[in-house]
Amino acid sequence: MGTLTRETKVTLLYIAIAFLFSVAVRMIWFYQFADYELFKFNSQFMINTNDGYYWAEGARDILSGLSQENDLSPITTAASQLTAFFAFILPLSFESIILFMPVVLGSLVVVPIMLIAKSLDNLELGLVAALLASIGWSYYNRTMIGYYDTDMLNIVLPMFLLWSIIWAIKTNEDKYLLITALDILIYRWWYPQSYSLEFSFFGLILLYVLIWDRKNIYNYKLLAIMMFAMIGLEGYIRAVLVLGVFYIYKQKQFDKYVYYVLALSIALFFASGGFNPIWSQLKGYVFKDAVTVGKEGLNLHFYSVMQTIREAGHIPFEMFANRISGHVVTFVVSVGGFIYLAYRHKIMLFGLPLIGLGFLAYVGGLRFTIYAVPVLAFGVAFLITEIARYMPTIRLKFLTITALTLAILYPNIAHVQDYKVPTVFNADEVKVLDKLKDIAQREDYVAAWWDYGYPIRYYSDVKTLIDGGKHSGAVNFPVSFILTHPQEAAAKMARLDVEYTEKTFKFIEENRELIRDKNLTIFSNIEQMTKDNGFNDTNDFLLSLESDMELPKKTRDIYFYLPYRMIEIYPTVEMFSNINLMNAEMKKRSLFYVTKMFKQEQNIVNLGQGILFDIQSATITINNQKVPIKRFVQTSYDKSMKFSKNIQIANASASVNIIYMSSYNTFLVVDEKTYHSLYIQLMVLEEYDRALFEEVIMTPQAKVYRLRV
Ligand code: MN
Repeated sequence: MGTLTRETKVTLLYIAIAFLFSVAVRMIWFYQFADYELFKFNSQFMINTNDGYYWAEGARDILSGLSQENDLSPITTAASQLTAFFAFILPLSFESIILFMPVVLGSLVVVPIMLIAKSLDNLELGLVAALLASIGWSYYNRTMIGYYDTDMLNIVLPMFLLWSIIWAIKTNEDKYLLITALDILIYRWWYPQSYSLEFSFFGLILLYVLIWDRKNIYNYKLLAIMMFAMIGLEGYIRAVLVLGVFYIYKQKQFDKYVYYVLALSIALFFASGGFNPIWSQLKGYVFKDAVTVGKEGLNLHFYSVMQTIREAGHIPFEMFANRISGHVVTFVVSVGGFIYLAYRHKIMLFGLPLIGLGFLAYVGGLRFTIYAVPVLAFGVAFLITEIARYMPTIRLKFLTITALTLAILYPNIAHVQDYKVPTVFNADEVKVLDKLKDIAQREDYVAAWWDYGYPIRYYSDVKTLIDGGKHSGAVNFPVSFILTHPQEAAAKMARLDVEYTEKTFKFIEENRELIRDKNLTIFSNIEQMTKDNGFNDTNDFLLSLESDMELPKKTRDIYFYLPYRMIEIYPTVEMFSNINLMNAEMKKRSLFYVTKMFKQEQNIVNLGQGILFDIQSATITINNQKVPIKRFVQTSYDKSMKFSKNIQIANASASVNIIYMSSYNTFLVVDEKTYHSLYIQLMVLEEYDRALFEEVIMTPQAKVYRLRV
């Protein structure tokens, strides 16, 4: 260590301090829930982001070497590969690896921040910015412990890119050409959507070169090697090209060819279709409704997921500011500070693409704010160090920096303490899936709503029809239909949808060329079923499910995963099949009301929202209208967890049913259609047709049935 300069030693010390601070703050959640067994599986905390189970499935399959065709397991993705690598070399359980990866990788953001500050000769600026950025509100939310998703490196990698660009432009040293290109390669490997940010950096450098530094040959080398790293070819080909170009750069006699190298890189970029992803994204923005349906198709209309996710709309300024800096005041000061910083150090203007992407949150949704967190942290940190500069003594300088830093950190730490997010599933639900793993075969299907797709595949190692990435209106329709329709139609639809899903995989495999060259249309399962059964109106086909029909040959088992928690989203689940596919007309919404907040006053049970259940007269008041009820059902578990139900028919001609799930402290008010749905019958009432279904795992939290047809 004797050879290190004082500056290097301080840099390393500050990196260590900021890194440990970032890790320590992320451990708050861990200690808050230390004794909470419902969040644990295999004596470790489970993760708290649904998508994480996708990468975890891929990593699990890489490690075991077992991957099947069409299981949708992401074994070729960077996140899964890196996870498998860590799990392979580290003496920790797999659950611990995925829990802590965001803690460690997310905290790495302090490294490029310190290195950028070093280039500004202001290490204290770096330390303050690193402390703030590492736990900044939205950055914390997306890199907290258990938030196992690509976010854990999605800011770290572009910050390294910013650092190497700044050092390249400032020093014109050869090594930064290579580092910049390698960073782009890694960033693209990790997050294929990264090209928009890469191009913004490229464009900004080009602008800078054309306006201020046209004669410097180094700049053209930088642009060319960046372009080689960005062209539309496989990662390893780009890596070879980058190394080759770097080798040429090192030979001074080739300097006169630099412009040809740049021209070649741009030509290759267009030839390899490097512009396509940008073009298709632009098209998506400009021609929003350009989605067309094949001519020979039935022109079916599906309900879109976008319609259920709340429109981004207008984000309140305060929320936007909090997400970026932790507090409105800090945010305003940070913006002012960044402007001043950029005025004093023009090089910091290269941080603009990150700020710009962060500000996209105003139109594109909150998820973008994290991009602005670290660069704007430089703004307020710079002002703090500037104020400290005017202090007469070292002691006062130190006190000023400490006090102001604590002030900007405080709202963010307070947020961390309040942000008690639950794990995706609880221990009871996971026990069911873990048990199912030993019962179901790897090629069997589990029918469940898409929210549960990734975790089901991870814990039970089965196939699913829909998941966090596969949930368009067309694939959701059959699953929604299964869950919200009567048992016979649901059973047939389940068999049909699974066999058609597998058939479609095969069809795509066998016709790869035709699909690519001739634009062969792949019809939705439901459309194909309609046509194969001789109908050209899907409504007629759906009606035919209620009568005898020939089902496709059974190739595997199908299970139904029915968790209690689905009760909360039942109306949303129903939407996807509550549409007339032929003309896009939404059907009348079913009556579905669920509550855990109710109180009884003599004979009246007040269910909230003005809904009153009169036990004596067996009537219910909804929307100020008193109507008779058809059934009153009470379910319960006794001490030995035996399920029982009591059904009283009050008025056979009525159509409203009340279900009191006493052990769940839950009241349900449903119409006849909902009452007869597979979900209510199998999950809530355990009332099923023995010819169609059999019990597999029955717990209060989740029930699993097997299809018998
Ligand atoms: Mn599998």
